[in-house]
Amino acid sequence: MEPITPNPQDIKRALRTLLLAIGEDPDRDGLRETPDRILRMWKEIFRGYREEDRPTITTFPNESGAEEMVMDAGQYYSMCEHHMLPFFGHYYFAYLPSADGRILGISKVARVVGYCAARLQLQERLARDVVEMLSEALGGTARGFAILMRGTHMCKTMRGVRNQGEMQVAYYTGEFKTDASLRAEFLQMVAAAK
Ligand SMILES: [Zn+2]
Repeated sequence: MEPITPNPQDIKRALRTLLLAIGEDPDRDGLRETPDRILRMWKEIFRGYREEDRPTITTFPNESGAEEMVMDAGQYYSMCEHHMLPFFGHYYFAYLPSADGRILGISKVARVVGYCAARLQLQERLARDVVEMLSEALGGTARGFAILMRGTHMCKTMRGVRNQGEMQVAYYTGEFKTDASLRAEFLQMVAAAK
C-alpha cells in the first residue's frame, strides 16, 4: 500500500490544530518548527509503507543441505496503531531450512524487522509481517518459522498500567506449529539468549 502524499501545508496545519487541542501555543519559539520536525521524523519512522525502502533479502541455495534451526535476535522499535505511541523490545527469530531449499543471509532479518516495524503496528501483526516477508524471500521453502517478541508499550506504561505495559507474542508456522519439541528447543534458545 503506497501512502498518498497530501500537501505538506495541510499536514502542518493539522499538527498545529493538534497542538492547540492539547492546550499549547503552536506559535511559541519551542513549537514553531515542531510540525516540520514531526513530518521529517515520520518519513523515517514510517518508511515501512514505502516500497522503495523495502530491504532486499539475500538468499542462497542450501548447498550443504543443513536442516538445523537458525536463530537471530535483536531489538525493535515500532509505533502502536491504537495510540501512535512507541512500543519496543526484543525479538527472537528462528527458522528451519529445508535441505533442498534456500537459506537466508541471517543479517537481513534485522533489516526486515526494522522495515515491518516502521509502520503503525500491533505486536501480533508485526510478528506475522516479518515471517511472511522472510518466508516469501525463501520462496516458501522453509520448513517453519518461529518468532517471539517482547515489548514495552508506552501507551500502557505512561498511563501507569505498569505491569500491563510488558507484552509477549509468539508466532509459529510449519513444523514449529506441529512439533512441540521444536517449540521447546526454540524457547530454550530464547532463554539462553537473554
Ligand atoms: Zn497503544
